[in-house]
Amino acid sequence: MLTVSARSTASAGAPFEATTIERRDLGPHDVLIDIAYAGICHSDIHTARGEWGETLFPLVPGHEIAGTVSAVGSEVTTFAVGDRAGVGCMVDSCRECEHCRAGEEQYCLEGNTGTYNAIGEDGRPTDGGYSEKIVVDEAFVLRIPEGISLDVAAPLLCAGITLYSPLRHWDAGPGKQVAIVGLGGLGHMGVKLAHAMGAEVSVLSQSLKKQEDGLRLGADHYYATGDEGTVEQLERRFDLIISTISATVDMTAYLNMLKLDGTLVTVGAPPEPMTVPAFALIPGRRRLAGSMIGGIRETQEMLDFCAEHGLGAEVEVISADQIDEAYDRVVASDVRYRFVIDAATIAG
Ligand code: NAP
Ligand code: ZN
Ligand code: ZN
Repeated sequence: MLTVSARSTASAGAPFEATTIERRDLGPHDVLIDIAYAGICHSDIHTARGEWGETLFPLVPGHEIAGTVSAVGSEVTTFAVGDRAGVGCMVDSCRECEHCRAGEEQYCLEGNTGTYNAIGEDGRPTDGGYSEKIVVDEAFVLRIPEGISLDVAAPLLCAGITLYSPLRHWDAGPGKQVAIVGLGGLGHMGVKLAHAMGAEVSVLSQSLKKQEDGLRLGADHYYATGDEGTVEQLERRFDLIISTISATVDMTAYLNMLKLDGTLVTVGAPPEPMTVPAFALIPGRRRLAGSMIGGIRETQEMLDFCAEHGLGAEVEVISADQIDEAYDRVVASDVRYRFVIDAATIAG
């Protein structure tokens, strides 16, 4: 076992504290990664505050991990010491079910093993990226291409892939009207990716506060849903709408913005059920869908796409002592656009 420094929370909503955790000894297929940066995803907050039901405490969150390989197991073939490596939301899956075999490990029929708040192969709770080092099977480690620095790469491992996968699945590209709802961590990556794929991109935000940023990130249009007349103006405008809203809201207005056969995909995962009237779906043969991160192969494809197009996240690097404050700012939509913890500050 390897003892490493980490930051954990003891119960729902409790402040983060400096602690140590044990990482397993390297198995033949394991990779040891010295973490450089870990992003703060709103899912970390939902989990740490107990909003999604049972959380395994003490909790070390973090599933947007970027770092450097510092040791490899005896049979590892895909990574070597010194390689730039990333870990996202899952660290294992059954690898045998039809979805795993199809490269959609996130939808594993046995349930994938979460990077944190899950039980790992050694029978102990998994601990995430708010730590100095992590041990992961090489099959669940991604290559971070040269040309993307590690701080702006970290958020790609969740925010990036969570938007890339539905944009690809629903064919975002030239001639498509795509709207991204919510300009936060996921949303800002959605704007960059959809623009790079060639779609005409609109941001639907609660206000115009971030309009200049949205246009700079690649949006063609920017709307404040709270402004009078906006909702009516956008009726039947979009082929694809991706909602990143973290709070429970009424989806009626967004559904009415879909064209015939349009799709509204929620990647936002609010704790309470959303309002979805049948008569917002029926008149336009509209679809309401969900999407969860992406498979390992697709995550690598996304990282390579980002390198090719010069994309990374817009980040604010913080020290580990600022995690509580950063959580409050994310919940208040006061993030531009992802907080990333500098792992060198974790030991305190
Ligand atoms: P975030 O940075 O907090 O962004 C969420 C955005 O939603 C905010 O910036 C805000 O945008 C908008 N919003 C918040 N409250 C709203 C409200 N009451 N009405 C309308 N808009 C509201 O969070 P994130 O890290 O991007 O995560 C977003 C959600 O996706 C979370 O629920 C998270 O758990 C979930 N998630 C899902 C997956 C998946 O695989 N499906 C993966 C990662 C995260 P504006 O300020 O622009 O209005
Ligand atoms: Zn996430
Ligand atoms: Zn499986």
